[in-house]
Amino acid sequence: MDTFKHKGLRKKLVEEIRSKGITSEAVLDAINEIPRHQFLDGAFLNFAYEDKAFPIGEGQTISQPYTVAFQSSLLNIKRGDKVLEIGTGSGYQTMVLFKLGAKVFSIERQKALFDKTKKLLVSMNCTAKCFYGDGYLGLPAFAPFDKILVTAGAPYIPDDLKNQLKIGGTLVVPVGGDGTQKMYELRKISETEFEEIEHGDFKFVPFLKEKA
Ligand code: SAH
Repeated sequence: MDTFKHKGLRKKLVEEIRSKGITSEAVLDAINEIPRHQFLDGAFLNFAYEDKAFPIGEGQTISQPYTVAFQSSLLNIKRGDKVLEIGTGSGYQTMVLFKLGAKVFSIERQKALFDKTKKLLVSMNCTAKCFYGDGYLGLPAFAPFDKILVTAGAPYIPDDLKNQLKIGGTLVVPVGGDGTQKMYELRKISETEFEEIEHGDFKFVPFLKEKA
């Protein structure tokens, strides 16, 4: 159910995110349209439209709306872009990318989350392709990608992901160990050269290597 109350709360959330510096109307529209409460566990329904991260089970969180908007803005999605997302989680960021017109490929390492979210996205008519696997490896069979987005805090930027990016493509990844990460935007200039832009501090759950 998506009620008038939810729609009203979403409008407020959009204005809050706008006031924090997000200017992409496409991204703000996507956030205005997507019922975020449907991506949260029932107990947190009342918090769905606060600008905060929340637990989604399996020790994971749905990213803060501002963070989703910030990462989505950096990617500058064009209709038809092939986008690889690492860390499907709740599927909310996946849905934002899909609404922006991307062909989304998303990887999740937690089986329970993968199963639940895949079903949820199908029920919402989202045609993003979900994969159960290790995001450090990317998806070589579907590479190269126009854009790659990592939604977990990475200790370093995996070469496999850099290799699976098209020349001219953008990789957005929060880098740093436990605690806080710095947001990095990498532009692939040639097979071996990247232009690197560092953005501010963010907080993500860890990008994990070994299976739990
Ligand atoms: N985009 C998600 C963010 C979820 S938090 C959302 O908006 O809800 C990050 C997610 O990355 C978690 O679901 C976690 O299980 C997943 N993750 C962590 N390490 C991973 C890896 N190596 N490969 C794929 N997913 C991973």
